[in-house]
Amino acid sequence: MKKIGILTSGGDAPGMNAAIRAVVRTAYTYGIETVGIMRGFEGLIEDDMKLLTREDVGDIIQNGGTVLKTARSERFKSFFGQDKAIENLNKHGIDALVVCGGDGSFRGAADLSKKGIAVMCIPCTIDNDQGYTDYTIGFDTAVNTVLDAVSKIRDTASAHDRTTVVEVMGRECGDIALYAGVTGGADYIFIPEVPVDTGAVITKILEGVERNKNHSIIIKAEGVDISTEKLCDIISQGTGQEVRSVVLAYLQRGGSPSAKDRMLASLIGSRTVELIDADSGSRAIGLSGNEIIDIDIDEAVATKRQVDLELLSLIDNLSK
Ligand code: ATP
Repeated sequence: MKKIGILTSGGDAPGMNAAIRAVVRTAYTYGIETVGIMRGFEGLIEDDMKLLTREDVGDIIQNGGTVLKTARSERFKSFFGQDKAIENLNKHGIDALVVCGGDGSFRGAADLSKKGIAVMCIPCTIDNDQGYTDYTIGFDTAVNTVLDAVSKIRDTASAHDRTTVVEVMGRECGDIALYAGVTGGADYIFIPEVPVDTGAVITKILEGVERNKNHSIIIKAEGVDISTEKLCDIISQGTGQEVRSVVLAYLQRGGSPSAKDRMLASLIGSRTVELIDADSGSRAIGLSGNEIIDIDIDEAVATKRQVDLELLSLIDNLSK
């Protein structure tokens, strides 16, 4: 009987549980045994793992977080850490390892693959910063969480005639800001991929004032090269408006996964096991258009995400 291991690594993302469920249940139908590894690569080094039955993954599809816990493991980046991980995989007779995580986790997976382990990578990160896949699992839920917050902020901003800067996650990728910006009707957004232009946002707000619009929603990704505090000061000085900030922070990671994230996790998780059953070696699985795709892990890691500048123009046009 084939045996696979599964772990969740890096930042947690809503939909990780749905992916674990899909892997375990598909493996079950293929007659493959699944071992759950706790706390990502840390648990792999510490040999912290347990057999997962199809019942063990019941009633988790609706939950955020991850039943396998997650961690960032510095030790895993070392020669010793990776050797220990491989030793434990071999000790338990694990034929393939499924890694659910973001870019960093994929780099770790690529290292193991180069050392002869078959590794399957499932993109789970709220950032949507992986270029080889249209969407990562967790992104849609995070955008919906931001959207909910923006809608509430809009009510009070409108009542008080005040401008609000909402800081969202995204150190290097502005997709959460972009998507929440379009769907939340933001007036202006700042993303890490585009240089900061405080003059432009002031002009935009003042144009609104001429139309009797006295409150604006500005969304700023955390990785943008200006602090939220400083940005608020500059906007306040340039417009004469009261400007407040809201930092959404870890709130964006939690919550029940959206239908879109559950669907993506179910499709990708299931394809992952089909590939393992077919002895496909090491692959990164993702979404391209309406197709579930699989590509070489190194190629997946090397594919840089391109920012969709058309969405930026859309935000500008629709908020005029
Ligand atoms: P998120 O995008 O949500 O932060 P992530 O998977 O990118 O998720 P990281 O903290 O970057 O999160 O990586 C998770 C783990 O993967 C690290 O703690 C480490 O164990 C491993 N890892 C990261 N980068 C590398 C690397 N270059 N080589 C080997 N292992 C790595």
